[in-house]
Amino acid sequence: MRKKIVAGNWKMNLTIGQAEQLINDILQAGLRLKDGQEVVLATPFPYLLKAKALLKNTPGFYLAAQNCASEKSGAYTGEVSAEMLSSIGVDYVILGHSERREYFQESNAVLAKKVDLALANGLKPIFCCGEPLEIRKAETQNDYVAKQLEESLFHLTEEQLKDVVIAYEPIWAIGTGLTASAAQAQDMHAFIRAQVAAKYGREAALRLTIQYGGSAKPSNAAELFACPDVDGGLIGGASLVAADFLAIVSHL
Ligand code: 13P
Repeated sequence: MRKKIVAGNWKMNLTIGQAEQLINDILQAGLRLKDGQEVVLATPFPYLLKAKALLKNTPGFYLAAQNCASEKSGAYTGEVSAEMLSSIGVDYVILGHSERREYFQESNAVLAKKVDLALANGLKPIFCCGEPLEIRKAETQNDYVAKQLEESLFHLTEEQLKDVVIAYEPIWAIGTGLTASAAQAQDMHAFIRAQVAAKYGREAALRLTIQYGGSAKPSNAAELFACPDVDGGLIGGASLVAADFLAIVSHL
């Protein structure tokens, strides 16, 4: 069976003190994760080492970065490489978040390079895709997402794809309070899985974890996670509040 993952994307929030508190609050809840369930925390870069120490290899808990560089190493002031993240024990890296695409002009081609570097360094990409509102209104979201997958992921081998998680995050649902309905999420997730099946075969598609992201919260997580092709969530705002995050995880 494929993994079910709830990941908290903290984005650019919290001080180190608040970050420690949040991790401790989450750990103290003593979550009992079932086989195949994972909780991933995507903290800001400066907190990764501390988060790693606090998590102390707690079973089922993993650490993610929110980005990595598109170049291997060298004179790229301010960038953080996949190798650096790997060397401090980071497990996952979020790539292609819509905020990176929009504010930092990350193209599908640049993301393909990041995906390659992540995999080459033993990091598992959480690859984000999703359409803006005007595309949803024009009902061309499937073509839009297919192109994102095609241009950033579909050059990978089937073996490499085993280490990739996809997160569907409709841009109109991120931080807006507007959640995709369970039916909208299921439709897109089934479409993504079908695209992967067409390229890599049915087994590869059935193995792939596809998370939903965009205003997921305790009140809608159960319905979203109950969809057959929704394998957990990538949580923004609600991941900053321990009780909300834990409630969402409880619906996995
Ligand atoms: P919100 O949960 O705050 O809408 O953010 C979703 C997101 O962008 C997660 O990566």
